[in-house]
Amino acid sequence: MNSTILLMNNLIKYRNADKEFWYDELEDWVPKKIYDCHVHMINNDLIDDSSIHKNRFPNTPLDALKNWYKLVLPNREVNSLILGKPMFGTDVNAHNKYILKEIKDNNLIRAHRLTTPLDSLTDIERDIKEHGFQGLKVYRYFSSSGDINECNIEDYLTHEQMELANDLGIWITLHMAKQDGCGDKENLKNLEEFTTKKYPKIKWILAHVARSFTYRPIEKAIDTLKNLPNIWYDLSAVTDVRPFITLFKNEDHKRIFYGTDGIESASFHGAYTAYGHFHYQIETDKVESLNFSHTSNRPIISLYEQLISIKQASIICEMNNTQIEDIFWRNAVREFNIPWG
Ligand SMILES: [Zn+2]
Repeated sequence: MNSTILLMNNLIKYRNADKEFWYDELEDWVPKKIYDCHVHMINNDLIDDSSIHKNRFPNTPLDALKNWYKLVLPNREVNSLILGKPMFGTDVNAHNKYILKEIKDNNLIRAHRLTTPLDSLTDIERDIKEHGFQGLKVYRYFSSSGDINECNIEDYLTHEQMELANDLGIWITLHMAKQDGCGDKENLKNLEEFTTKKYPKIKWILAHVARSFTYRPIEKAIDTLKNLPNIWYDLSAVTDVRPFITLFKNEDHKRIFYGTDGIESASFHGAYTAYGHFHYQIETDKVESLNFSHTSNRPIISLYEQLISIKQASIICEMNNTQIEDIFWRNAVREFNIPWG
């Protein structure tokens, strides 16, 4: 009953309860094709020995991603937008080269290069024009202000880099910092200025429902965001149903991409749980007070918590199958020019 499949160096403990949940709730609902717009690869050899992130997670080459998809999204055809993985002590150019080497010759995969404020404009331009990256992945860990939590966008993506991105008309996947994410006044003001005045050709993907793991950030931001040009969202990692309801009710569904945040950030048992305005990644295997004396039900992997929330939000918002398929793959195929009919 509780047997476990250990996959790839402990990257995931896939249990019977997970498999049963997939076939009870998701097999008939999740579209047959999926374009995963938020997924990472890891190579620990390219992380400095002194980093707290060195060997924190097992290596994740493209083959590992493919095996993971087969396990957690059975009977599905999956392709990906690979995002550079932000971890302390990463040799950024080597990490980007590693991504390129892994995805070489696959014309259904796209990638955003890991980009920090220290990266030269020459390196960025070469990676876009010559090596085929379609955009940038930026992250608060690399903030030049030294504050990785409350930093402004320009602290981890310089204006010179945004000017270049604007000239090139490329995508940027943005995980907003600050405790209120997209609901933060400064973040919203910046996005408004960047999209409508300063950098009108940059195409933004606001990761994690514009960094809304509770109902509040997206509730505060949606009336502004929905009227801004060149804004898209990915649904990765979020497991609370309420941000999905607000997004689906108010946004044009053609601006929404599906994403997992795999592998390790979506494979633990548990969820990104909201408690009021606080949220936290709760791994049920690590909660000592859990007991199962009252039930035969068991926790599931957070990827399935996300999928069941998206399913329920789509039902509440009365979305049809075409709209759901658009979110799961057709929007990405259209926007990224993927030859995948
Ligand atoms: Zn991520």
